[in-house]
Amino acid sequence: MDFTLDNEHRMLQEMIRDFVEKEVKPRAAEVDREHKFPKEAIEKMGPLGLLGLNVPEEWGGAGADTLATAILYEELARGCGSTALTVEAHLSLATAAINLFGSDFLKEKYLTRLATGEILGALSLTEPGAGSDLKGGVRTRAEKVGNEWVLNGSKMWTTNASVAGVIVFLARTDPAGGSRSLSLIAVPTDTPGLTIHPAERKMGLHGCKTHAVTLEDVRVPLDHLVGEENRGLHQTLEVLAGGRIGIGALSVGLAQAAFEEAVKYAKEREAFGGPIANLQAIQFKLADMATNIEIARLAVYRAAWLKDQGEPYAHAAAMAKLFATEMADRVCYEAIQIHGGYGYSAEFPVERIYRDNRLMLIGEGTSEINRLVIARHVLGETSRN
Ligand SMILES: Cc1cc2nc3c(=O)[nH]c(=O)nc-3n(C[C@H](O)[C@H](O)[C@H](O)COP(=O)(O)OP(=O)(O)OC[C@H]3O[C@@H](n4cnc5c(N)ncnc54)[C@H](O)[C@@H]3O)c2cc1C
Repeated sequence: MDFTLDNEHRMLQEMIRDFVEKEVKPRAAEVDREHKFPKEAIEKMGPLGLLGLNVPEEWGGAGADTLATAILYEELARGCGSTALTVEAHLSLATAAINLFGSDFLKEKYLTRLATGEILGALSLTEPGAGSDLKGGVRTRAEKVGNEWVLNGSKMWTTNASVAGVIVFLARTDPAGGSRSLSLIAVPTDTPGLTIHPAERKMGLHGCKTHAVTLEDVRVPLDHLVGEENRGLHQTLEVLAGGRIGIGALSVGLAQAAFEEAVKYAKEREAFGGPIANLQAIQFKLADMATNIEIARLAVYRAAWLKDQGEPYAHAAAMAKLFATEMADRVCYEAIQIHGGYGYSAEFPVERIYRDNRLMLIGEGTSEINRLVIARHVLGETSRN
């Protein structure tokens, strides 16, 4: 029994862990090596309710809370980073945007299918010239023409674009600029004028597909606006605050996986007459790793709990993401160190886990941006979120 999780969450954790051990972890090395989208595992998650875990039951979801999604990402990442990020981008970015802000029409049309896994979703904010600075940098335009939005522009780094049924785009709807000039618009991926470019070649997360997307006179009905016109930046920041809990959880799972590999190896590998686990230098590394993982896990669970209580949580989410992702970087580093030369080999999982985690310090708010969010909170400069 763990004081942080009640029986319901503990049972969910056990169910997901069992699924990951059978369906996700055994394929992780292949997913990475072959740059293979983990289609089979993702398809099996729909019927289990995992792809709509925190979506209300009335829209086809499992009606669970944010803490449940943190458990989901942690457990998935313990098995495979690519699979975990695919699900996180689907559930905590795209699905969350429609769940939080979409009209009943959009929920009926897309959320019900996203929640069951009939389709996957993507959220496309970043552009070649705009990542952290969405307010000033987004150049993709959406103009009202008759009863349609017409979108033109270039997006970068859209996770899931090629496997998604719908992409939620952030586009400039008021050329005057400023914080009230952007809107979120849902676009089905079979819409003419939408081009999804080949998957980016990346350092890690090879099974998770990320793409540049161009929009040339892409037309969708006006009712595909997600939330309020010109409120897209605020809506996006709210979605990202929730996403940061997800990325923090994902890093906890990756760190846990690297740690478990390091413990196993330290007990097996012999040097100077016994297992290296007998060496105090190795023991101290393992002790620090275990301690930091536990602290990060608590920070993630706390941020999730605050969100579930309806309390302000954006600062806690930023802290959890910052600490968990940087912690996982250090834990993976030490896990490789404990493996010696074998840690640098693709034959051992720690090398893949190290690469997979590196993105977590960049996506959904870099470490620097999270430090800014935390600093503003500390200095009393933030609003409720
Ligand atoms: C594998 C992968 C998947 C991704 N998936 C998605 C996705 O699904 N959807 C999506 O929209 N985007 C996605 N992204 C994009 C990601 O969110 C951005 O890369 C990230 O937000 C940073 O933006 P940038 O790359 O433009 O860096 P920049 O914003 O140009 O930042 C460059 C550097 O400057 C620093 N910096 C910038 N501004 C400040 C500041 N004010 N103070 C201090 N330092 C600052 C940054 O921290 C960073 O170190 C993905 C990226 C990758 C690599």
